[in-house]
Amino acid sequence: MSGPFKAQTIVIVGGGMIGLSAALGLRLQGHRLFVIERSGRPEYSESPELRVSALAHHSRKLLCELGVWQQLPQQRLGPYTGMQVWDHDSFGEIEFKAAEVGADDLGAIVENKVLEQALWDAAIAQGVQIIADDEVVEHQVTESQVTVKLRSQQQLQADYLIAADGNRSPTRERAKLPLSFWDYEQTGIVAVIKTEKLHDGIARQVFLPTGPIAWLPLNDAHLVSLVWSADTEKAQQLLALDEHAFMNQLQAASDQCLGKLELDSVRAGFPLRMQYAQRWLEQRLILIGDAAHSIHPLAGQGANLGFGDVVDLLPVFAANPNHRELRAWERKRKAAAVTMIGAMEAFKRGFGTANPLAKLVRGIGFKAANSIQPLKRQLIKAALGE
Ligand SMILES: Cc1cc2nc3c(=O)[nH]c(=O)nc-3n(C[C@H](O)[C@H](O)[C@H](O)COP(=O)(O)OP(=O)(O)OC[C@H]3O[C@@H](n4cnc5c(N)ncnc54)[C@H](O)[C@@H]3O)c2cc1C
Repeated sequence: MSGPFKAQTIVIVGGGMIGLSAALGLRLQGHRLFVIERSGRPEYSESPELRVSALAHHSRKLLCELGVWQQLPQQRLGPYTGMQVWDHDSFGEIEFKAAEVGADDLGAIVENKVLEQALWDAAIAQGVQIIADDEVVEHQVTESQVTVKLRSQQQLQADYLIAADGNRSPTRERAKLPLSFWDYEQTGIVAVIKTEKLHDGIARQVFLPTGPIAWLPLNDAHLVSLVWSADTEKAQQLLALDEHAFMNQLQAASDQCLGKLELDSVRAGFPLRMQYAQRWLEQRLILIGDAAHSIHPLAGQGANLGFGDVVDLLPVFAANPNHRELRAWERKRKAAAVTMIGAMEAFKRGFGTANPLAKLVRGIGFKAANSIQPLKRQLIKAALGE
């Protein structure tokens, strides 16, 4: 029996989109929340930001329930109604349309900073105490409580500590939680690209032997967000090219899917890491989001997995949380992450090869998937994160 509801004091390390959405959800349940963030309030400029996330329906549902989705500026959202995925080196191609599963869209492209700022403001408005420009330098967790010490010398006592401090999670490292880790040795190059043809709300992705390139539709019908994942050596070469040479390579890889392409921002590279912590729960320490798992952006599911962690954690805290329920939460979320990581690895291995037989097989696989309706519907549902 859980007894009458008792408000918990919860410290969350990391005010990214996952830490802030957990803070807001828990605060709305009546708990006392502190978020420690080493940076300040996220700020964004007039032009589209470089980092975006394709958010699936379950993430949007959570953000609606938190009252944040409604606050996002419409002109910074890029709903996408279709996906087109093809293989640069074979005849394989697959196209999904939201209408094929009776949905209005498959999700929406959101600029990370736009979402983070809305979450930050909503959290403060609901009474979450955000301690910005500070970080945890020490923590102790026992079976019954948590103590954290900040760089500013402030000390906090709490019932739970949630680490949402990203894929290099200093909290996870301090707690010495073992990591299953293998680096992708790939880098994701991001930029905003102006397109000659209308993007039509279609998220496009082409697979090259060196890695996938995605063009994600932004609100402006001629702007897409580029995520070019390439082996690190190749990515470094690409980043070192001048704008003209870089765009020539991108144009050649695009199979003219969007007509002539122009660079509309700077370019930046992010190392891609595949990893997950073997334990996400240690006494009263809980890992969520990229602190617990990070995956290849090719399926656009990293943040969606993190929102899934929050969706499943909230019911545990709606009544009085206990260790057994938290363990069940950990098992469920690990299964979701491991399934996704396995699928990403298989995809990457399947496509990251120039072997002619493998190319033929994936070409046939794509064609079959595109023409067999039940299989296609399954794929669309997977893309929707269902
Ligand atoms: C190129 C690229 C494209 C992607 N595209 C998609 C996509 O389309 N769809 C999708 O779902 N996912 C995508 N992802 C993944 C997605 O960006 C991440 O899963 C998501 O940002 C994780 O959010 P988070 O809040 O867990 O971590 P983070 O965003 O890393 O936030 C962690 C926060 O913790 C703070 N922090 C760190 N250390 C400390 C400390 N010691 N003390 C205090 N604060 C600290 C940081 O400042 C930061 O604010 C992509 C990733 C990459 C690299």
